[in-house]
Order: sequence, then structure tokens, then C-alpha cells
Amino acid sequence: MKSLYVKFVVITVGIMIFSGVFSFLISNTYYQQKLKPYNDQKNTNIALDVAEFTSSHPDLNLKEYLENISSIGYQIFLIDDAGKESYFGAPFRENTLSDSTKEQVLNGDIFHGILNFPKETFVTGFFANELKNTIGVPLTHNGEKYALFLRPDIKLLFNEMHILFGWLLALTIILSIVMVIFSTKYLIHPISKLTAATKSLSDGNFNVDLDIARHDELGELSHSFLRMANKLERMDDMRKEFISNISHDIQSPLSNIKGYTNLLESEAISPEEKSDYISIINGEIKRLSTLTKQLLLLASLDRDEDIIKRKSFNVGKQMKELVRNYQWQMREKDITIGFSLPDVEITGDPSLLNTVWDNLLTNAIKYNKTNGSIEISIEEKEKSVLVTFEDTGVGMNDKEKERIFDRFYRVDTARTRSVEGTGLGLSIVAAIVKLHGGLIHVNSMENEGTTFVVELPVS
Ligand code: ADP
Repeated sequence: MKSLYVKFVVITVGIMIFSGVFSFLISNTYYQQKLKPYNDQKNTNIALDVAEFTSSHPDLNLKEYLENISSIGYQIFLIDDAGKESYFGAPFRENTLSDSTKEQVLNGDIFHGILNFPKETFVTGFFANELKNTIGVPLTHNGEKYALFLRPDIKLLFNEMHILFGWLLALTIILSIVMVIFSTKYLIHPISKLTAATKSLSDGNFNVDLDIARHDELGELSHSFLRMANKLERMDDMRKEFISNISHDIQSPLSNIKGYTNLLESEAISPEEKSDYISIINGEIKRLSTLTKQLLLLASLDRDEDIIKRKSFNVGKQMKELVRNYQWQMREKDITIGFSLPDVEITGDPSLLNTVWDNLLTNAIKYNKTNGSIEISIEEKEKSVLVTFEDTGVGMNDKEKERIFDRFYRVDTARTRSVEGTGLGLSIVAAIVKLHGGLIHVNSMENEGTTFVVELPVS
């Protein structure tokens, strides 16, 4: 974690240095391209003004006048025809200037030293206090020819501004670094907390403490993390419950089978008792077999989505056949069935969807009342097909309704307790419908009846 912190600080400071250098290069280029000619022109005009003034005022004391000009912020070099040199104002750091340049200016040319000052990557030239970096103009005074070289005295003119900008820059850099150091701590802190939470989660402790009050991405991440932790906890609970349910559901038929085989072994039983026991044992074996089949199906539905073998088939025909298979069971319970099953072609896995209809129909029979009724229908909508199972059975309340798709959940009331079942049927139904991209809705009223609607997309 510390390394992320250090990286963050180093990268930020790196970015600051890089931007500093880069901005300098850009402004330097801007100075060279745009400001330098302008600066040169400005100073040329000043120098020409000075020369003009001295020529039109022959009575003027030239040295005094130039002394005055220099004191308001210029460095001046003057040379006369005879080669006599004089300086006014602050001295130049470098006094080299070729004789030919001096000669040319004496002969009437203008010297653009500022414009032609050599370019360098990291030097603007603006601050170079050199004789080469001046403007030279010819000057005539009292019939004498001179060459006047002049540049603004940067130190005199801008010293305070220099200091001001220096402080501004230094303080900006120092404050930025200090603030980066602290703000990074503030940014990294929730990540450290998330790491601790992840560790705690991997140790099996789902009660993690995270700051979800933040309104940024990290707050969102913490939020998702908490949701994930809750989900994992629920899944862990479900897993434990699942194992305990399976163990119980396998154990109880096994002990029944063992009990009745023991009884069969005793010699003092009548033939009727014997056949009773054998039918009980058979019933228990059937229960175990149903349970394992359902578990295997659920496991394969969980494992991969490739389990569905889609093809187009007539769902109306399939359901009519199913109804025919259960006719005797319904007759036994005096249940009447009505259906509207038009020939509708859908695309899906016929065998898996048959399991769905089978479960819903057997539930409608199992949880129905004597003399009850069942209505089944298929309805074609624009984008989906609705398959409805409506019964006049025991129904259920809202709380029970919410849990019926949970694995092993069975409504435990006096009316349902006597009904055989594993509590896996509807979880299988839900899984198959989901794999087909469909939805399942339930509507139920206690003691009135239940309606299941399966909505399958047409595609
Ligand atoms: P089971 O093997 O117990 O039938 P299911 O997963 O198919 O398991 O159903 C879960 C529970 O939902 C059932 O135990 C029952 O209490 C309730 N249930 C399912 N279908 C109906 C229905 N048509 N009417 C009333 N209750 C139902």
C-alpha cells in the first residue's frame, strides 16, 4: 500500500516537473517567434527617439542626457567616430561587439541585436545582459557622428516583479508538493480499508466495515463491495442450508428403508404387512431417485448455459400430451381441467420446457383441493408467448410466495405438509425459464388459488 502512495506522489511531482519544462519550452518558442520581433521593434523606436532628440537639440549635454536616460531604466553604450567608448547605466555582463558592427552603425545602419540574439533551447535571450543583445542606432550631435547601443535594464525595471514571480513559483511548487502528499493519503486511505475488508472476507468474516458515505468512485466501489459481501454471506448461508437439507432428505428415506427391511427380516409378519412394507420401501426409493434426478438437473443447469438444445417446436401439442398423462391423477382427486392450447411454435429446449410444464402442472394438482379446477392456456403476444397455469388450490401468502423459488423451500402448513415433494421443483423451473431468457410471475391468494405465468421471448 505504501508503494502505491509513494508512486502517486512521485508521479505527481514528475508530472509537475515535466509540465514545467514543457511549458517553458512552449513559452520560449512563443517568445522567439512572436515577442522577440515585437520587443526589438519597440526598443528600436526608443533608440531612434533618443537619437532624434539629440540631433534636434545640439545644445544638449549629450553625456548628461544619456546619463538621465540610463537612470530611468536603460543600459547604454556610446562610441564616436574616433573610437572613444563610454558606458551609461548598469554595466553589461559581456562587452563584446564586433568592430564591423560598430562601423556599420556609425555609417548609418540600424543594429538589431535583440532580434538576432542566438536562439537556445533553454535560454529566452530576454534576460541576457550583453552588449550583443542591444539595439544600435546612428546618432549625430553637434556635427559629430556616434553609434548608440541601448537595451532595457531588466534588473532595474523588473527586479521586484522578478522577486514576486520567484516567490510565486517557489510557493506554488512547495505548496503543491505538500498538498499532494496529504491529499494522496486521503485518496489512498479507502483503498487500504478495502484491502483490509477483502482480507477479512477471504477469512470468512462477512461483517466488513467500509465508508460508504463518500460520493465518488471509491464510495461506489465500497458500496458494491458491501453488496458483494452481503451476497457472498447469503450464498454461504444457502450453501450450508443446502447441504444440511440434502443430508436430511437423503437420510430420512434411508432410515425408513433400513427400518422396513429390518421388519421384513422378522419372520412373524403377515403377507399383507409384507406387501405394505415393500410398497413403503419402493416409495422411499422413488423419493430418493426423484431427489437425485432433480439435484443432478439443478447442478447441470447451474454449471453451463450450453445445456439448452434449442429448436423450434409446437408447445401447444406438447402441453396437450402432458395433460393427457396426468388425466388419471386429476380424475382421482376429482379435479377438472380446462385448457386453451392453440398450436404455437416456439424456439427452446423441448425437454427442459417439458420439465417446466410438468412441475407447474403437478404442483397445480398436488396443492389443489378435492373438486378443484385447473386452467391452462397459451397466449401469443407480439414479442413473447405467455403460458398460464391457474388453480383453485390452497394458495399461499405473500411471505411464502417470495420464497417458493428457493431451493428446498416448502410451505409448511397443515394442508401442504402431507403432500410429497422435495422443494426443488420451482427452483428448477426458475432456472430453466431464466436460461431461455424468460420470466416467471406468481399470483396467489390463500385458500383461493394460485396462478403461474411463464413469459418466453419469441426470438
Ligand atoms: P415441491 O416439491 O414441494 O412441490 P416446489 O419447488 O415445486 O417443491 O414448490 C415449492 C413450494 O411452493 C411447495 O412446497 C408449495 O408449498 C408451494 N407451491 C408450489 N406450487 C403451488 C401451487 N400451485 N399452489 C400452492 N402452493 C404451491
